[in-house]
Amino acid sequence: MQVSRYDYSAQFDGVLDDVLSRIRTLLLRGDYVLNDDVRSFESNFARTAGTAYARGIGSGTDALLLTLRALGIGPGDEVITQANTFYATVAAIVHAGATPVLVDADDETYLIDQSQIERGITARTRAIVPVHLYGKPTPMERLLELARARGVAVIEDAAQAHGATWNGKRVGSFGTAGCFSFHPSKNLAAAGDAGCITTDSAELAESLEAYRMLGQRVQNEHTVLGMNSKLDAIQAIVLNAKIERLDQWNAQRRDVARYYRSALAGLPISFQREDPGEEHAYHLFQIRTPRRNELLTYLQERKIDAVIRYPHPIHLQTPFAQFGWQRGDFPVAESLANELLCLPIRPQMTKYELAYVVEHVRNFHALVPA
Ligand SMILES: *Cc1c(COP(=O)(O)O)cnc(C)c1O
Repeated sequence: MQVSRYDYSAQFDGVLDDVLSRIRTLLLRGDYVLNDDVRSFESNFARTAGTAYARGIGSGTDALLLTLRALGIGPGDEVITQANTFYATVAAIVHAGATPVLVDADDETYLIDQSQIERGITARTRAIVPVHLYGKPTPMERLLELARARGVAVIEDAAQAHGATWNGKRVGSFGTAGCFSFHPSKNLAAAGDAGCITTDSAELAESLEAYRMLGQRVQNEHTVLGMNSKLDAIQAIVLNAKIERLDQWNAQRRDVARYYRSALAGLPISFQREDPGEEHAYHLFQIRTPRRNELLTYLQERKIDAVIRYPHPIHLQTPFAQFGWQRGDFPVAESLANELLCLPIRPQMTKYELAYVVEHVRNFHALVPA
């Protein structure tokens, strides 16, 4: 027995021939850039996210970067986010030329600790970037209220949470903009890099058209600096074929999470807190234990593809040394980096696979002395 984290081929069940024939037609037709496939995916995704607009971008990292640029955020500006996010969130802020300001994570939800955000706001703050981490939606009311009161933008990093809802509303539809990744590992996956930005602002959507195309709406009329980062037409074909199944896949992920939570109850491990009002997308299923490293080795030796997401908090990453953060600055983020372990989660895991994972997590606790 072996339990893997991904099954990419299963995502094409029933749609592969259609995808291949569409790609074949595209290759011969030659309209490779921002064609109807891209436009139709943009409207499909906007509908899925519950926003008026979606704009396809080359990756999730570029989606964050272009959103910041299009909102005019750059050198001299500060952007608040959480110390336990994936590297890309903060890399995008730094690439925009802005200064990242970190807030610690909440010890139970692993989301941004909202009680600490206000302390991080200064006259230079231009945006708050909450991350719907591991697929758990950030409760948005208080955060939006604070942002409105202080006149700063909210940019949701929804790269791990396609389809997740908070009080019935989809993530990516709360803030000024939502940024998504379709990296192959994500809940909605392209066959390579891809991303998109959702927004209700016609002005931002229009501005992004230029920002993703070297600053031009009309060829050779460059009105802003811009980048070259657009959703690829082949990836749009792949994404259009899969998007119908996103909700079903997320429901299957929630079934897996529910099983793990009940089958692992009673062990000296904890889980990301569940909250009423949320529909978690379960991009990752985390268990928390001080014996994390030992348990990881134990599971990997039994061919269970458990992994650590993420072993290094933002403030201790070498490329961010210029910001002068020290060990101890964000204790919850450090503790999560030391104690979290992802168990394999994907739609369509078999009951044999699930039972095998649970058996070995239980055996570890019963048989390996602490
Ligand atoms: C994956 C991810 C990104 C970056 O997306 P890419 O498409 O890989 O560039 C940004 N933020 C978070 C939280 C992510 O998980």
